[in-house]
Amino acid sequence: PVVVTGSLLDGLDPEQRAAAEVDGGPLLIIAGPGTGKTRTLTHRIADLVTSRGVPASECLAITFTRRAAEEMAERLAVLTPGVRDLTIATFHSLGVLILREHHSSVGLSASFGVADPDRQVEVALSVVADAKEARALVVSGDERYKKALRALDLVDFEDLISLPLALLEDSPDLVAAYRSRWRWVSVDEYQDVDEQQYRLLRLLTPPDGNLTAIGDPDQAIYRFRGADVGFFLRFREDFPAARTVHLTRNYRSSAAVVTGALEVIAPSSLVPGRELRPMVDHGSAPIGVHHASSEAAEAAFVARTIEQVLGGASFHAFDSGRVASDGTQGLGFSDFAVLCRTDRQSRALVDALTQSGLPFQKRSHDRLADRPGVARIANDLKYASGDTVLERVRAVAGDDHTAYELLKPLAATCDTDFERFHTALALGVEVDTWDPRADRISLLTLHASKGLEFPVVFIVGCADGLLPMRWPGTDDEEAVDEERRLLFVGMTRAQRHLYLSHTTGRPRSPFLNALKAYDQIGDAQPRRKRKGTQLSLL
Ligand code: ATP
Ligand code: MG
Repeated sequence: PVVVTGSLLDGLDPEQRAAAEVDGGPLLIIAGPGTGKTRTLTHRIADLVTSRGVPASECLAITFTRRAAEEMAERLAVLTPGVRDLTIATFHSLGVLILREHHSSVGLSASFGVADPDRQVEVALSVVADAKEARALVVSGDERYKKALRALDLVDFEDLISLPLALLEDSPDLVAAYRSRWRWVSVDEYQDVDEQQYRLLRLLTPPDGNLTAIGDPDQAIYRFRGADVGFFLRFREDFPAARTVHLTRNYRSSAAVVTGALEVIAPSSLVPGRELRPMVDHGSAPIGVHHASSEAAEAAFVARTIEQVLGGASFHAFDSGRVASDGTQGLGFSDFAVLCRTDRQSRALVDALTQSGLPFQKRSHDRLADRPGVARIANDLKYASGDTVLERVRAVAGDDHTAYELLKPLAATCDTDFERFHTALALGVEVDTWDPRADRISLLTLHASKGLEFPVVFIVGCADGLLPMRWPGTDDEEAVDEERRLLFVGMTRAQRHLYLSHTTGRPRSPFLNALKAYDQIGDAQPRRKRKGTQLSLL
């Protein structure tokens, strides 16, 4: 039999392929939700390495979260079997890497540690007695606190970017060395870079360098953390030789979801002529809007709807008078997500889901070190040597399978080099408790839903004051725009069915006014509403 192996790029659509095929030079990929950003980026890197003679060691891919880095590493391992030496890092782990190589220049030992938030306060408490004051020192990066940190051979998260930045800003030689080491740099979710990360990137890549930035300015939702979408928007000024490619084909959502999301984002879209075309047939269910009498009633609506769907009752979706084939057969709990603006809103949902006996998982960002059993294992591990970290973790974990499973992915990346494990443990502040494989309903904040997709999505609390959320001092237009983007992110998680709900007591979110078509769903009988007209369905 003749085996014909196609190009790596055969699995891409024409737009994705055009982006992946660009040769050298700066490249900006402006890509909407569900357009296959990770797929495009990983195929591009894989093709550079396997077909275009780029040494893997010259490739650096930067992501924002460890989960994203792991996902990219997994996908590249499949696309480029046997290829090693690709550097896939988060901004923070890249900082650790640079600091380990130049520790003495900043007065650290080769085995410096990374202080987690508790340790930071502890260190600050060696400078001032009052806990509140200590926190203030940490937040302000006070010099006395930093000095105490250094005396203990520690850095904090902020240092992981600012110290490498200072190192590089002071040393053109170092800049040249890193630029020739990583000639091919790519950054995912570029709309979320903050100023320090941006400056670090500029140092790592010359203005005509092979930098690929991919992202969606309309999904910029981390302004409160210092991210600035302005860096994305001025990419072509920073890199005048830049090529720009748009990805506009959405492989995730139904036409109704895509249309509704575009209507919501339109008033403040940062992408001129924003285009997003639904490519997959996900049925014809319109977006559902529900007005509940209270938060408890809203949560009960969510639980009841999930039960109905799982029980085989059809959705409220009708198409010219007949039941739409909505493809919802065979759904499991993991196909549902309930999104809210703040974690506080999830209480009513937890109660309602618990009462209905529906299994759910809340995504939270616990510290790995705080998870049951992990601290004990980490402590015992200090005294181990010889074996690989993974072997030792297994031995020390003993019967504690849960803790072992939690630590396994990290330990597996640590080789024998234990200090790396401990650093990573401290770095692992954002340990994600959400398990994509668990058959449970996902309860997520809108921020935590970023990058994910589900057949059925509920967004609760679509009310003025919650979405947009309003705090004193943040009531400016930019803050409201960011809230609108947050709703855009949430809506575009849905594949087939999207429900937006709000309760009496707060005005409906003004963002929903942009929707041209939706079903107004009552408590009892579903009724269809098309801008004012109400049609009875049954
Ligand atoms: P987001 O901005 O929401 O993070 P994204 O651009 O990262 O979106 P992905 O999650 O990578 O989008 O892709 C969305 C879905 O589309 C995935 O299920 C992916 O497998 C699918 N997909 C991407 N490209 C293609 C393609 N060329 N053909 C078929 N399916 C595709
Ligand atoms: Mg993505």
